[in-house]
Amino acid sequence: MSDINISEDTYDIIVVGGGPGGLTAGLYTSRADMKVLLLEGNAQASQITMTDMIENYPGVPEISGFGLNDTFKKQALSFGLEIKPEQVNRINRKKSGDVEGWEITTDNDVYQTLSVIVSTGAAWSSLGVPGEQEFIGRGISYCATCDAPFYRGREVAVIGGGDTAIQEALYLTKFASKVTVIHRRDRLRATAILQQRAFANEKITFAWDSTVEKILGEDGVTGVKIKKVKTPDRYEEISVDGVFIFVGLVPNTAFIKGIVNLDKDGYIITDRDMKTSAEGVFACGDCISKSLRQVVTACGDGATAADSVSLYVDELKGQAY
Ligand code: NAP
Repeated sequence: MSDINISEDTYDIIVVGGGPGGLTAGLYTSRADMKVLLLEGNAQASQITMTDMIENYPGVPEISGFGLNDTFKKQALSFGLEIKPEQVNRINRKKSGDVEGWEITTDNDVYQTLSVIVSTGAAWSSLGVPGEQEFIGRGISYCATCDAPFYRGREVAVIGGGDTAIQEALYLTKFASKVTVIHRRDRLRATAILQQRAFANEKITFAWDSTVEKILGEDGVTGVKIKKVKTPDRYEEISVDGVFIFVGLVPNTAFIKGIVNLDKDGYIITDRDMKTSAEGVFACGDCISKSLRQVVTACGDGATAADSVSLYVDELKGQAY
């Protein structure tokens, strides 16, 4: 037994984020009998919970994003994981008894912990064109699962050419009469299977080599003004009732800037053990700098982070064996 003094209310680990990465880390560490708290913030509006259908998570042929995350959560809770719906505002280095740990300040409380796993994911980017902010909720949307039913029998545009844009365009065809995918290049970034489905879908048309200049409308969206990038000074207007924007992600890492090293796009830099540049701070999932952002890779990162953090905490407590 170690005789190191650690304040009683100190957690071994606080996991920040309630998506697949965070819940996997929470499941592994609580199953290993560690004292763990997961702060899930605004998990209801996260990428996974707003995804209509996931069909590439091995072992689960088809499930909604919300359903899959809820299963992760129930499984983690069954091993005793404590979860609170609080938003983390900042983390600071702070001693807990004899050891250096971290203090986590939420919108509700302040917690002490020996280590932190950051798994805050990423949010959808905005396009930054005139009309976009003005018409949010009046024709501009970043979530087809949430808003597609409002466009039954109507025409909509989808901006972007990645997996999200094409998957959401396909989903929108269940409701809309026509879906125009507006993409800035002449080929899609999305994976081949999604491309094949989109090209085969009669309701989907493409506006290639086109950037959005402006969202048009008065009380609500009435159209999109696009620029044909390969033809000088050529602009067109497409009449639509709704515009769904899926032009990539921004990591939710503002609260940790200055504490850990970030890459040029704001993603957290980790080593292969999910260690960040700050002692006792680990990270996993979509908020880290990496090439493939999928549910399955977030879960893998979460398991690795859990293993690394367990070794770290044992060493800190003088219990390493
Ligand atoms: P993404 O892969 O970064 O694609 C963003 C798309 O938006 C690209 O086509 C990009 O064009 C376009 N874009 C970016 N900025 C733009 C701008 N200012 N104006 C116009 N177009 C712009 O993002 P994502 O589709 O959200 O996917 C994020 C991650 O989640 C990816 O790793 C993806 O594989 C993963 N994901 C996977 C699945 C799945 O497996 N089923 C589903 C959803 C997401 P360019 O192509 O020209 O760069």
